[in-house]
Amino acid sequence: MKTGALPKQLDLRGLAARGVEITGTLSSDDLPRLIEAGLQVVEPGSATFRCRRDETGRYVVEVQVRAQVVMQCQRCLSDMTLSLTPSALMACIWADEDASDLPDTYEPLLVGEAADLSDIAEEEILLALPVSPLHETECKSAEQTAALREDEAVATSSETSAGREKPVRCAGTA
Ligand SMILES: [Zn+2]
Repeated sequence: MKTGALPKQLDLRGLAARGVEITGTLSSDDLPRLIEAGLQVVEPGSATFRCRRDETGRYVVEVQVRAQVVMQCQRCLSDMTLSLTPSALMACIWADEDASDLPDTYEPLLVGEAADLSDIAEEEILLALPVSPLHETECKSAEQTAALREDEAVATSSETSAGREKPVRCAGTA
């Protein structure tokens, strides 16, 4: 096992019974479904699992994932890097039908004796991917940007001009 990588086969319920917290790194090797989907992963990502039992004895896992993936902007078709930080509060269940017994606060985590933590983290990343990723500002054409600037200038003239770098000119002197 690589140093810092998430364990592949873990007894999550056992960890929850002991109140264990695990943090590990995520590399491309840990995220085969993302790679298969044509995404690049900026390494390393990370995931933290806080395992515990709740007041009713459920085995609960709180997962927090940090990952950066490269997707194609659907407007300009160039690459963009997205920072994703999905998190979830999950309760372990043995079978699909057990999900209906869970309170709404928990997401069902179907898991047997052994769980692959990077697989769980990957699922969270997949769920967090935007369907249609777009650059927030940078991919507009020069024309669009100019039009937008004019609009902004009308709406909030003082704010948009603040902080913009301009060449210093000495007016009125030759
Ligand atoms: Zn773009």
